[in-house]
Amino acid sequence: MRFDVVTIFPELIEAYLQKGILKRAIEEKRVSVMAHQLRDFSPFKGGRVDAPIVGHGKGMLFRPEPLAEAVRKLRIPGGKVVLMSPQGERLSAKMARELSVLPQLILIAARYEGVDARFVRRYVDREVSIGDFVLMGGELPALCVIEAVTRFVGEVLESEAVEGESFEAGLLEHDHYTEPDNFEGLGIPEVLKSGHHQQVTAWRHYNALAKTYLKRPDLFGAYEPLWKERQGSFLKVLRRQNEEMRKFLTDIQKIVKEWKDGREHETE
Ligand code: SAH
Repeated sequence: MRFDVVTIFPELIEAYLQKGILKRAIEEKRVSVMAHQLRDFSPFKGGRVDAPIVGHGKGMLFRPEPLAEAVRKLRIPGGKVVLMSPQGERLSAKMARELSVLPQLILIAARYEGVDARFVRRYVDREVSIGDFVLMGGELPALCVIEAVTRFVGEVLESEAVEGESFEAGLLEHDHYTEPDNFEGLGIPEVLKSGHHQQVTAWRHYNALAKTYLKRPDLFGAYEPLWKERQGSFLKVLRRQNEEMRKFLTDIQKIVKEWKDGREHETE
């Protein structure tokens, strides 16, 4: 998978590629990331790429010709052009997975007030936003896309690592604990230290449910039908478990009931 970022600040992108899993994925040639200076594609004096907005109001835009030239020079067969834009579809794990099968993404990182609308119309396949806020440039959003997509490319992360991750199963990921055993009076749930694989799995599942319910009721609602299906087998495991697990189950049932009551109330 190849990422080509078009920007007037390629060094911002390059700096980020120097560390971590992304660096390793590049060294292992699972992905390639190239940052291109938009000015190099400009036919104008001094590599100029911007011009004032037409109509009233202040501000500058990226003009279309250098952007179009960059796409023409960089695109490989099957490659897609993604414009980073607060007006785009929201980046998600689902979108990242979809994009990860493409041979190439050309990521356009704009500045100023954005880009000329005609470039979008002619050359852009998809507009992607990282959230409902306006940043000063598309470099950070482009890096977000690169990281989110790279996680799904081939064997960049062991598939086990992706599986439990937030959003993969429609839930947020469960809590994690590490050393020490006692941190400022707070311990680690006993079941996690028990070495009992099934019990640990059950605890994690219910912990993920509870967290999702509390933090992301929207995700929890979508997950509910799946949960009903699975609950039977988890109950079997839980029946054999200690007090802590039983209490946890009661808590979960309580919040699920509250959630349902609340929902029924709303529809009245
Ligand atoms: N005037 C534009 C915002 C321009 S911000 C508008 O109101 O829609 C400058 C550039 O930063 C954008 O063109 C885009 O490339 C990038 N950018 C800013 N916020 C972003 C976001 N939330 N997601 C993706 N890209 C963003």
